[in-house]
Parts: sequence; C-alpha cells; structure tokens
Amino acid sequence: MELYYDFHTHSCLSPCGDKDMTPYNLVNMSKLLGLDIIALTDHNTCRNCESAIKVGKEAGLTVIPGMELCTAEEVHVVCLFPDTESAMRFSDYIHSTMPPVKNRPDIFGEQLVMDERDNVIGTEDILLTLASSVSISNVCSLVEDYGGVCYPAHIDRSSYSVLSNLGMITEDMGFSAVEMTADADKDALIKGHPILDGVTVFVDSDAHYLENIKDAQNKISLPENSAKAVIEYIKSLPKMKKLI
Ligand SMILES: [Zn+2]
Ligand SMILES: [Zn+2]
Repeated sequence: MELYYDFHTHSCLSPCGDKDMTPYNLVNMSKLLGLDIIALTDHNTCRNCESAIKVGKEAGLTVIPGMELCTAEEVHVVCLFPDTESAMRFSDYIHSTMPPVKNRPDIFGEQLVMDERDNVIGTEDILLTLASSVSISNVCSLVEDYGGVCYPAHIDRSSYSVLSNLGMITEDMGFSAVEMTADADKDALIKGHPILDGVTVFVDSDAHYLENIKDAQNKISLPENSAKAVIEYIKSLPKMKKLI
C-alpha cells in the first residue's frame, strides 16, 4: 500500500518546538493534511511518543515512536522504533549520556511532557538540544540494539548535518538511507557525494510549528501501515557502499 509519510516532527517537548505542537494537535493536523503515518522525533527524547500514539489510534493515524538524536559530533540523526517500550528504553539510555545542563525555559523554551488530552504531565529538566555522547560511528549499531533504525537528518542543511559537520558520509557509518529537506538539490548532492547515488532519500517536514507540517506529498510503499513495517523496510535497504 502507498502511504503518505512524515518521519521527522517535533512536539512541545523539544525546546524549539512550539507550545501548540501538542501530541493531540500534531497528530490531528497531520491527519487533516492527509498523512497516513508520521514519526514524532523530539530532540534526544521519546517522552511524548506514547501520548502521540494514543492520539493516533483515536484519529486513525499511525505514529512511530522516534527521536532526533544529536550525536557527539552535533550531527542530527532520525531514529525510529517499532514500539514505545523500545523507544523509551533508548530514550532513557540517551538521557544518561546527556550533559547535566539544566534547561532555561526563559531562553530556550519549555520542554513539556503531555498526555493525549493536552494536559501537562511533566517537564524535562535537562536541556534536550545539547549533544549526547553517542558517536556517529556507533549510532546505527546502538539503535539496532534497541530494535530501531536510523538515518542522518537534513543532510543538505548547513548546520547539525553530517555533511555540514563532517564534510562527508562514509560507508563505515552504516547508514542505508538519508533525509533531505524538500528544498534540497538532490542531483548536486549526489554529484558532490557519489556514495549517495541510489541511496533511499526520505523527505520529512522537521516541523516545529503546526503550520510547518506539510501537505501529504511524500509516499512510501509498504505491505501494511505500521511502525514495524517501516522499520523492516529501512532494515531491508542495502547499506551505503563506497564507489570504486
Ligand atoms: Zn535537526
Ligand atoms: Zn528536527
């Protein structure tokens, strides 16, 4: 089946995410825009995923529990998990690798944990946008250990991307897909980085505000509409290989 997807969105738990990006609003706006499956990928945490999945069940939209991990090199990586339990175990582990710097809501914004009815049920104290201690060379195997998959986020951006920060993607990183923004010049990127030739590209919104969620336009073909089907699909993709 063909599914309209968006595998990179933020909620009000990300300090840079708008307050209106509650799990309820995010899911219902995505549904309204015609999406079939989304992932909630807050910075370095999965704590709002369970609520978003609950809203998704009511609204008829599949929600994949995910995270936008910031590696030690300050490279953003989209991580997706088959279920909340695996995602939360990963989230707890990442929390333990974060520098113990407290959030300053007056400067960076609040980091709100919400239930499926927009009630605030907690806040995250540590600043979620800082780098974890996970290196990009270990991220694929680490995420795999938790049953998930990952790919480097917005590789065409000039900050927090593998190309901006490291200048290249190498086969030993172990990725089999990448994310580009809707504005990316794909041909130019492939020309500059031939390792990307033939590699699966996901185009996600990286929405931090309700109005940033895009109309349904990017499709994926899967045997069923589920988080597990997405994970299996990405796992089945060939790893990037160095071209000779
Ligand atoms: Zn990012
Ligand atoms: Zn993001």
